[in-house]
Amino acid sequence: MTKDTNSAKISKNMENSSTAVIGGGISGLAIAYWLSKSGTPVTLYEASDQLGGLGTFFQYRNVFLEKFYHCMLPSDKHLLGLLREIDLENKVYWKDTSFGFMHKGELYGLNTPFELLCFRPLSFIDRFRVGLTGLWGSICSPNGLDEVTCVEWLSRLSGKRAFETFWKPMLQAKFGDRYHEVPALWFWTRFNREKGGNKKECKGYIHGGYRRIVEALSESIKAQGGTIKLQASIEKVDLNAEGRLSVLIPNSEVEVFDRVVITTPISFFNKAISGSRLAEECPKIDGAIDMQGVVNAVIMLRRGFTKHYWVAAIDEDIPFQGIVESTTLLEKSDTAGMHLIYLMNYIHRTDALFNKPEHEILDNYIVGLKKLFPDLQNEDIVDRFLFRAPFVEPLYTIGYQKRKPPTVLIPGKLYMATTAQVYPDVTSWNGSVGLAQKTVDQILRDFCKTRDI
Ligand SMILES: Cc1cc2nc3c(=O)[nH]c(=O)nc-3n(C[C@H](O)[C@H](O)[C@H](O)COP(=O)(O)OP(=O)(O)OC[C@H]3O[C@@H](n4cnc5c(N)ncnc54)[C@H](O)[C@@H]3O)c2cc1C
Repeated sequence: MTKDTNSAKISKNMENSSTAVIGGGISGLAIAYWLSKSGTPVTLYEASDQLGGLGTFFQYRNVFLEKFYHCMLPSDKHLLGLLREIDLENKVYWKDTSFGFMHKGELYGLNTPFELLCFRPLSFIDRFRVGLTGLWGSICSPNGLDEVTCVEWLSRLSGKRAFETFWKPMLQAKFGDRYHEVPALWFWTRFNREKGGNKKECKGYIHGGYRRIVEALSESIKAQGGTIKLQASIEKVDLNAEGRLSVLIPNSEVEVFDRVVITTPISFFNKAISGSRLAEECPKIDGAIDMQGVVNAVIMLRRGFTKHYWVAAIDEDIPFQGIVESTTLLEKSDTAGMHLIYLMNYIHRTDALFNKPEHEILDNYIVGLKKLFPDLQNEDIVDRFLFRAPFVEPLYTIGYQKRKPPTVLIPGKLYMATTAQVYPDVTSWNGSVGLAQKTVDQILRDFCKTRDI
């Protein structure tokens, strides 16, 4: 929280200044947590029946599993700071992890210079150039990288052949077929978050899963006087004649607040204010940033496949782009004693594949998995589940840093802290918590200005 604000005075004054937070993912939860802590009455609205957003979970036997694989990195300082504040940091455990690359049925580890030298899909020269690209990526300045695409930057450094064989599959693993325009700055931040400075790869998870964080935040919000409303999908946000903000849930009474913070996927914003008095007062937000979705299978197995946390598996015959073998990180007590893998396919929500029936997608994924691991038997597969999310990764285009929507839309009244504003930080819980923190600090500063505190 802000150090330069007088918290006692703020708390006293914030008692009569209410806030609606729209969206109960980590961004909305963190904002509601800090605002309620500062004394403001907060109501958090979540459209679904569960908090957590993309970091949400489901019950499997006696444990709760992530619907979408999640882990932390030692550099996640915003998230780890929040966990310290809610007394959960000591529940995080860390393990050395590694990365594998599947090429034409062969699995290669790609974690050390020696492994790169043994990476046969690339010529010897290309291996060397890829190594130098990694080295350069970890020491070069990010200045100017928002103005050039990953395709141009990586092809220039590693060469066209190496780009096609090595870097392109990695970009496809996140953006699917929408990787062409992604700025090199996205790659640079991600690379330095995960591998930069030749650090040994290490990942973290929390005993009890991400649900534990969600529950701790939601309990704290309520203990601090906040209200959480589930299955409360906001349709409209407007400005009333008294200059206060109203939020509308269909078939429900309009509720009125002093300020509103939006944390939903960004496409909600223009819809929610369209035709309203608010639209006239608000800066125009470029609603054009589209988002990539994901179709993600959770497979419970009797045995594991590899020693790698993440294996990129880009091949036209394989219906997913990667395997996250979570059991290389998670304790058995967090997976009901099973081997837990995720198969992910980043794909746009309008793509026919995104909307196929669940059993068809799962059957296809299993066929793909058997191609990669021919000794996989049906008896090895204990359970399988499918989860889809339409709004996951913003489809960044060059120059996005300058076009990124602001956090303050109307000072003192309307704020926005969505995934589309985390850039150039990586789309992650850490990125969302960092943005949430900045947003709350700004709200408190704006409030202090109006009350002369
Ligand atoms: C497959 C996958 C793997 C990932 N792996 C990791 C990882 O390893 N580590 C990591 O840190 N991050 C990971 N992430 C990213 C991380 O989950 C997101 O960056 C983060 O959860 C975004 O949080 P958010 O609160 O900003 O948005 P969201 O989680 O999208 O939350 C937005 C919320 O708003 C709600 N909402 C939408 N419309 C309305 C409405 N009209 N009214 C009320 N509520 C509404 C939604 O239901 C949702 O709960 C992963 C994501 C995916 C999909």
